[in-house]
Amino acid sequence: MKRRKCKNCNELFVITPRHPDQEYCSRKKCQRARKTQWQRRKLSSDEDYRKNQADCQERWLKKHPGYWKRYREKHPEYAQRNREKQRARNRINRRQRPARSTFQNIVKMDAKQRQKPLISGFYELIPVADTPFANMAPIIVRIDEAVNPGASV
Ligand SMILES: [Zn+2]
Repeated sequence: MKRRKCKNCNELFVITPRHPDQEYCSRKKCQRARKTQWQRRKLSSDEDYRKNQADCQERWLKKHPGYWKRYREKHPEYAQRNREKQRARNRINRRQRPARSTFQNIVKMDAKQRQKPLISGFYELIPVADTPFANMAPIIVRIDEAVNPGASV
């Protein structure tokens, strides 16, 4: 039996003839990691997909006003984690790291094409897990406008 190292957890798994190119093992967390990776690539390479996702999220948010505010109130640890991540990103951005993360590339594309709703330059895309719609295909991202990229949040 041929085995391969999982790209996510580094454990060996058996390659089946039906899925000869499988790169991730079948663990739930690794399949989720595979999906996240696929979505990241798709978002940065496929303009139609990106537009479609943005439209879909905009419609969903219109139907659920205040969802994120309530979610953050109910999940203070989530809000805290996000604040810490944003601080880390702010530190990196202050150091003027070359633009290479996916969201920076997306923003660049949007600025060029003047599209809604990612038009004004500095957004973060966070894949959302452990929410009521975590299984909604193909992706849910939270779009946050960074009020002042240079300041800590
Ligand atoms: Zn794995």
